[in-house]
Formats: sequence, C-alpha cells, structure tokens
Amino acid sequence: MNRIRASIITIGDELLIGQTVDTNSAWMGTHLNDAGIWVQRRVAVGDDRQAILSALDEESAKSKVVLITGGLGPTADDITKPVLLEYFGGRMVQDEDTYTRVMALFESRGLPVLERNVAQAMVPDSCTVLPNLRGTAPGMWFEKNDCIFVSMPGVPHEMKGLMENAVIPRLQERFETPALLHHTLITSGMGESFVAERIRDFEAALPKHIKLAYLPSYGLLKLRLTTEAPDKITAAAEMKDAFQTLRSLVADILVAEADLPMGVILGNVLLEKGKTVGTAESCTGGRIASQITAVAGSSRYFKGSVVSYANETKINLLRVNPNTLLQHGAVSEQTVREMAEGALETLKVDCVMAVSGIMGPDGGTDEKPVGSVWIAVGGKGDIRTMLYRFRYDRPRNTEMTVVAAMNELRKWLEG
Ligand code: AMP
Ligand code: MG
Repeated sequence: MNRIRASIITIGDELLIGQTVDTNSAWMGTHLNDAGIWVQRRVAVGDDRQAILSALDEESAKSKVVLITGGLGPTADDITKPVLLEYFGGRMVQDEDTYTRVMALFESRGLPVLERNVAQAMVPDSCTVLPNLRGTAPGMWFEKNDCIFVSMPGVPHEMKGLMENAVIPRLQERFETPALLHHTLITSGMGESFVAERIRDFEAALPKHIKLAYLPSYGLLKLRLTTEAPDKITAAAEMKDAFQTLRSLVADILVAEADLPMGVILGNVLLEKGKTVGTAESCTGGRIASQITAVAGSSRYFKGSVVSYANETKINLLRVNPNTLLQHGAVSEQTVREMAEGALETLKVDCVMAVSGIMGPDGGTDEKPVGSVWIAVGGKGDIRTMLYRFRYDRPRNTEMTVVAAMNELRKWLEG
C-alpha cells in the first residue's frame, strides 16, 4: 500500500537549546498516525532564515506533506511568516476573517490593539488560510512542487485545534489513507533481550506489514504491534490474531493489555477486587499518591497517604518503633514493614504500599548504595517486602520506585 509520508518541521531557538521540549511533534505523530498518515521525519530548526529555507527544501524532497509549527508570534524573534512568503512567493494581504477575530479578541479582553497584533492577520496571498479559533496567528496551507506545506503556531493548544479542525480532515480528504493500528501490552520482570528470545519464532513469522517494537520504560517492558491495512476491519482482524498470540506467549509476565499509566492499571485492579488503598511514602515524597489520584474516580479506592520523610514522622504518624530505626536504619526491611503496618492502621485501608530508599546523589553506603529501595505491599497479616537496587540519578530512581511499588501491589492483589 502507498503510504502518504509526512515530515514535521518545528521552528524555534528554544527547541534547540532545550528550554522547550518539542511536545508538538509527539502529539502530531500520534494523531496523524490515527488518521493513517505516517510521519517519517522530524526536524527542529532555529529561528533562522537559511535553516528554515533548507528544511523546507529537504523535507519536501522526501515527503508529500510538510507540517510546520512555530515562529508565528507577533514579536521580532519570530520570522517564519516572512520566510514562507519568500519561499512561496506572492505578497502580504490582510485576511479579513483573522482581522475580525483579532479585533474581537482584544476588545473582549479590554486591551488596546497594537500594530503588531493587526499584523497577525497579514498572510501571503499564496496560501489558503486555516482559521485559528484559539489564537491570533492563522494556519497557512501552501502547495508547491506537488507537496503540501502547512504552517501552524508553536503554542501547543493552538496547533492542536488547527490540526483537529482543519489540517487532518483536509489531508484525509485529499489522500487515500490506510488504517494504521497499534496495540501495546506491558510486561514486567524480564529484560527485553530475554523476552526477545522467548518470542523469537513469533516475531520471525509476522507478516511484513505487522511490526513489533520493544519499548523498555521504568522497569517495565512495552511490546507494541503495529499493522497497516487498506481498511479498519482488515487491520483489526489481523491485529487481533497477532495480539492474542503475543499475549499468550507472555501471559506469566503480563501487566496490562493496553498502554496505560500504572495508576490506571492499579486502579482497575483495586476496583475489581473492591479494595481501598493508601500509601506510606518516604523517598517518593507522595508521588505514588499523586499518580493514583491523577486518575479520575480514584476516590472510590484511594483514602490517603502519609508522607513520612523524617524518622520522627515515621514514629509519630506510623508508629514505627524507634528501636527498629536505631537498629536497622530507615532504609530497611523492618522499617518498611512497620511503615506498612502503621499505614494500614492510620489510614484504615485494605491494602498499602510503603517505600523507603536512598535516591542519591548522597547518602549511599557500601551496604546500602544509592538506589537501594525497600518496598512493602499488602494487607493486614499479609505483608510482602522486597529490596530493589536501582542505579540511576535521583529523579529516575524516584520514578522507578513509584512504578515498582504500584506493580508489586498489583501482583499482590492478583495473588
Ligand atoms: P511561537 O509560535 O514560536 O511564538 O511559539 C509560541 C510558544 O509555543 C513558545 O513559547 C514555545 O514554548 C511553544 N512551542 C513552540 N514550539 C513548540 C513545540 N514544538 N513543542 C512545544 N511547545 C512549543
Ligand atoms: Mg518562537
């Protein structure tokens, strides 16, 4: 099947120095894929005339569709529009629709309209204007040398509106788009090379248009199948067969059958088992609770948390025995066990997660190096403890701990 291939050009010095992370490309990639449009290249360039011109040349030589974001603001550092005028030719004209919208926007905010705001309504007459209902800079659709170029603002919320309301529908009208389908499952407890060995025959037997990707992430491993077919029904049927086989091959290490955040996965199990949960968090500082409550409806199972960072808080709020802390230290099996028992009492919940670890960069010893984390999960009379040894930096060790604790409780709940 003939895929339409797209390129994305993101423009802005802030993207090159790392001040702004390019989330636009990721969002566009996901949504274009859902629409059957394959993004084959992404490139970021600065607010620089020559760099933008070269990128337009290079990407249009490779892709039928070139989507551009950034550099459309009303300030002097943004130069995308004049560069597009130079590239596509024509002259600047006022777009009446945009002009009306800009005027109305400033009036509704009670602000004076500056010359540079009015200039937002000026567009090259070589483009078709795509209305931006969320801001002042309109989208601009150009065609040259059998290639479509669309320029959109860098502001993510405005770009998304334009993509959803104008760009994707127009591209789907213009091209025959295949059905692209992704299905991801999540595993834990086995490294990717071992998983690859186990499913080697399955992978080798996949038809050419079904692809398998390995995505390790925070101690979990995601396996994504991607298939492409002329229509949704064919794609879904092929996907179902391949996915069922893959699923059966990893049944013993399966965490979830979809690419969901751990908070959602654990929440679903808690709902299914009808159990309430709480946390006793030292080194994660409440991040487990944060991930649980990021899920709408979590009040049905989440009761609360004790962020017991200091020893005295472990003693005062969780009834950890001072002698336990003296004898074994805060990062120990005995301490997390008592934290978990204390949280069960204090929070009056059916099950808990308790964590205590050394996240770094300081505080490690030979016996307990940075990255040592004790986790306790379970319910009254049945608490399971485990030691993890991470070896990363502080933020990553913390994230790994959050995922590990939730996954351990999930395993405990599922018996
Ligand atoms: P601009 O259209 O260049 O005026 O960009 C407006 C704002 O959007 C800037 O403050 C950027 O931080 C943000 N932005 C620009 N490009 C991107 C991108 N690729 N991903 C996420 N944010 C962006
Ligand atoms: Mg900019």
